[in-house]
Amino acid sequence: MNIYWITKKQILFFFAIFFFLCVGISICFFIFAEEKPSFKSTSSISLEDTQSKIDALYTNPEKVAYLTFDDGPTKVATPIILDILKEEKVFATFFVIGSRVEEFPNIVKRTYEEGHFIANHSYSHQNTKLYQSKTSFLNEIQKTDEAIAKALGLPSYQSHLFRFPNGSHTSEYAVAKKNAKLYLKEIGYYYVDWNALNNDSMQKYSSSELLQNLKNSCKGKNTLVILMHDTVDVSKSYTALQESIQFLKQEGYSFATFSSFFSDNSSF
Ligand SMILES: [Zn+2]
Repeated sequence: MNIYWITKKQILFFFAIFFFLCVGISICFFIFAEEKPSFKSTSSISLEDTQSKIDALYTNPEKVAYLTFDDGPTKVATPIILDILKEEKVFATFFVIGSRVEEFPNIVKRTYEEGHFIANHSYSHQNTKLYQSKTSFLNEIQKTDEAIAKALGLPSYQSHLFRFPNGSHTSEYAVAKKNAKLYLKEIGYYYVDWNALNNDSMQKYSSSELLQNLKNSCKGKNTLVILMHDTVDVSKSYTALQESIQFLKQEGYSFATFSSFFSDNSSF
């Protein structure tokens, strides 16, 4: 009888231990289950955060000008632009075409070494190639990155920033561009358009007209992302660049490049 009573007590004791163990495991499980999605959402928020920060530039109240030059490098225009930027002590972002990087790697190297940011503007700049398929789009990005990395002698270089040829919002290739934005997100890339320009893509403006176009385009805007080109097959922005920079300085603008969005990344 006595023995039976002790055994019962022992059973109760072990039952109690088992009960508390189950409670403990359940608590751990719930803590884990809570942490997992919050980790996932944090990483996806930070990815979208950078894109939303870029998108929010146009409503930023600070007077900051992001000078951007597309379609280079070219033998004639890019070095002249670099000389002017150096003289004015201003840094810019160059959205380069991969095939031209392969043609003029030394100009890209010089651009980078003088403190400018090199970003991706596709390999061919041809919509038919870019939007043929997901693979062809990603190839265009990758081949350009590889060309830049080779030119700079920095094997891991990736700008993480893309500019769509002709911009991300066009009626032509609208669906393809919408899909391409998702592909960019998958590979940790962001994109940026512009909110100011001097219309140099139309080959008809003199330097004073380019300056006037820019002044008109900047009116009432604080943070500016200014589209220009460092090629010679358009109106020559370099002929109006120095005066354009001086105008922006007089208007109280400071200058920045898009590298500031990616300063945490060691590849830059
Ligand atoms: Zn372009």
